[in-house]
Amino acid sequence: MEFKIKKIETFTNVHISAVKLTMDDGSTGWGQMSTYCADITCEIFHRQIVPHILGVSFSSFESVENLILRKEHKFPGSYLLRAFSGIDTALWDWLGKIKRVSVVELLGGQPGKLRAYGSSMKRDITPKNEAQRLCKLRDEFGFDAFKFRIGSECGNGKDEWEGRTEEIIQIVPKALGHGVEKLVDANSCYFHIDAIEIGKKLIDNDISHFEEPCPYWLPNETKKVTEALEIDVTGGEQDCDIRIWQDLIDRKVTDIMQPDVMYMGGLTRALRVAEMANKANIPCTPHAANLSLVTICTMHFLKSIPNSGKYLELSIEGSDYYPWQVDLFDGTPFEVKEGQCSIPSGPGWGVDFNKKWLEKSSYKLCEI
Ligand SMILES: [Mg+2]
Repeated sequence: MEFKIKKIETFTNVHISAVKLTMDDGSTGWGQMSTYCADITCEIFHRQIVPHILGVSFSSFESVENLILRKEHKFPGSYLLRAFSGIDTALWDWLGKIKRVSVVELLGGQPGKLRAYGSSMKRDITPKNEAQRLCKLRDEFGFDAFKFRIGSECGNGKDEWEGRTEEIIQIVPKALGHGVEKLVDANSCYFHIDAIEIGKKLIDNDISHFEEPCPYWLPNETKKVTEALEIDVTGGEQDCDIRIWQDLIDRKVTDIMQPDVMYMGGLTRALRVAEMANKANIPCTPHAANLSLVTICTMHFLKSIPNSGKYLELSIEGSDYYPWQVDLFDGTPFEVKEGQCSIPSGPGWGVDFNKKWLEKSSYKLCEI
């Protein structure tokens, strides 16, 4: 049976843009563009994606990707892919719905439980307070892995404030204790000499994952850190160009690859990166830093790939940090029990955007 894309609707605010796709037989699918500046992304979506695909028959995810990226070959960058993830993720949801299976099942996996690590986004928190809140979450939800922040974001080697990194890499692991895996993220802070020094201290403090130690646009810096340290050096969240991924993988710039489903341009392209990494025996621990659809997509993604990393990234930030993610979906799809999330088992992504949230957003419709 042939399905033609008949109607595309978007529901947008500055942080998030949800996409509803309707085929000519009335079947529907829901997706999301990447978060942040979603209003700008939505503009690109309606100018540079929608006109190419309205009226097009769906044959495969790759053919939709090829169509858009060829038509827009002068724009091989982040914004187009952030927008493209809206259509790709809506198509995956649609296909799951017409086949009455979850996306993870479309990919040959099974829904079920998935180990999560609690991911802190905060740097303005003192080491003592960070240790306290992570221990509380460990006790309340049974998390057995956490990530916290060191250095300052793209900070040229500078700490968030003097002494914070030295302090937090001692205090937090000690408080969490054995049996809890400890991960840190430097968000492109250091050059390799400092990163290697810090990496040795991370090892001394039972930390097993060193994320984005060096500016991500300087892979040779990162590679030196990977080669010097026994600890897992990780990265890739910012990268969306397949050529860059091929280079990172070919040269084993990091030990673990961290594509972000939405920055990549959707699940189809994220799966491609995972496959490339798998061929090189490199695990994927995807990036998913907020509780919008990106984390739902990542659950399905992680459970379906052979080289999945040890856990799902699950943001621990609430309404004080991410007020815009509150009540985005019906129900509680991110609930954690004994340190595990449950992949929604319903058709497609298995979640529904909350009607009240949709009503408050800015609406746009394109139809043939
Ligand atoms: Mg990161």
